[in-house]
Amino acid sequence: MMPFDPPQRAPVPKDAAAVILLRHQTNSKDPEVFLVKRSEKLAFLGGYHAFPGGQFDATDVEAPVENCPETETRAAISYAARELFEETRVLVARGGEALTKGQRESLFDDLQSGRLSWPALLNHYELHLDANDFTFVGRWVTPPFSARRFDTLFFLVNCPAKQIPQIGEDAELESGTWIAANEAVGRWERSEILAVPPVLHALKTLAAGLTEDLVQRFLAAPNANGEPTRRIEFRPNYICFPVRTPTKPPATHTDCYLIYTSQELLIIDPGSPYEDEQQALAQTIDDLIAEGRSVREIVLTHMHPDHVGGVNALKKHLGEQTKVAAHKLTAEPLSGSVRVDRLIEDGDLIDLQGTPEISLQAMHTPGHARGHLCFHDERTGTLISGDNIVGLGSVLIEPTEGNMRDYLESLRRMRALPNLSVIFGGHGPAIANPYTKLDQYISHRLEREQNILQAVREGAATPQAIVARVYTDVSPKAHAMAERAVLAHLEKLIEDGLVQKSFKGLFLPGN
Ligand SMILES: [Zn+2]
Repeated sequence: MMPFDPPQRAPVPKDAAAVILLRHQTNSKDPEVFLVKRSEKLAFLGGYHAFPGGQFDATDVEAPVENCPETETRAAISYAARELFEETRVLVARGGEALTKGQRESLFDDLQSGRLSWPALLNHYELHLDANDFTFVGRWVTPPFSARRFDTLFFLVNCPAKQIPQIGEDAELESGTWIAANEAVGRWERSEILAVPPVLHALKTLAAGLTEDLVQRFLAAPNANGEPTRRIEFRPNYICFPVRTPTKPPATHTDCYLIYTSQELLIIDPGSPYEDEQQALAQTIDDLIAEGRSVREIVLTHMHPDHVGGVNALKKHLGEQTKVAAHKLTAEPLSGSVRVDRLIEDGDLIDLQGTPEISLQAMHTPGHARGHLCFHDERTGTLISGDNIVGLGSVLIEPTEGNMRDYLESLRRMRALPNLSVIFGGHGPAIANPYTKLDQYISHRLEREQNILQAVREGAATPQAIVARVYTDVSPKAHAMAERAVLAHLEKLIEDGLVQKSFKGLFLPGN
């Protein structure tokens, strides 16, 4: 038996709105949509393609909105319009048709500088919003696997004539472009861009044409009504299926991955010990099997309970003949609780049968756990990183499974992979800025190491003393965990000859 703590609570979603801005070319049936790319530097969904939009601001509710009796929708239209204006300079307001570009610029400055609030600005220039300009096409809630969650209303908006969206020197967005919806879907299908489910759904819906039933098709998605999406296909053929697990806060879920071709299905890290979550996962797997696929095997990235907690239940569901594969150093500590049938070594290939071509190369990447494996799909630049890199929270390196020297070496190996375009971590959303993220991870560890070394040189001789000096950004509640991380750093510094351990057990500068 493994000890499981009660599950953590996922954060409550914040109100937000997004605008699907459309442009109709007279000689084309395909509508064009304004797609923005989020900055790679953003911690939340950095590098993703998305629509303009953002969070609710309390003052938004006072903005004049006509033809909308419903308070909540009225507020949402107000912040949708404000965010659209702030991010793209496109102003969708009645009475604003006659404004010149220069006048719109000065309105923008009034808003940005805080001289006028959004409602005050609209009133001052005798403008108002009209609900008829904002077609509601769905409400989507970020799945609970994210530390930042949004309850987002999506609106279709026609770009007013003569207004050209432009992305300012805003830190949040990197670029924006008009693109035919079917071309954007094509880019996703070719694994060139990453988008969250509502964005992908919008692009696919628009790609099918501006038909009479367009809005119905938008609203027909199973998750367009505020029910969080479970099956998330950030990239074709790679389903991220977050399951609730007793994991380390702020994470509340572990990502199980279902990688499929026309014929086979590979399951990575079914980690939930909870029956309702196991059933939800089994249902999705059954659906994929019913479409004519067979389960290749269950693969484990490493031995932690939040990654293996659902293996036995899933085997029971799929049949005991289902094979489990992992590294030898994962199989050993699991022996007695989870049976591993096949050992995977560094460099081994898992080639799935069927289409598209999916070939995963195993990388033995110890550091977080001794037997940790990552999987690299070179064709699409996809890396399944387990707990070595995560989309949420930080990675704990804790002796004796954890080893800081090995971990840094593993990070450098991942950093050296060519053409990475996405990292699927063990927790949180997919990482669309792989190299930025890897660089951050490496520099963060090296910085901690330098600070720890400095603390030892200044006389901090115990992990407690070092934590008090170095981990000033961490809440005292997490100090016990930080002490274990410090031990991992000290272990590496001792191996590097920079720190020595005295016979009394004190950590002192090396010779
Ligand atoms: Zn782990």
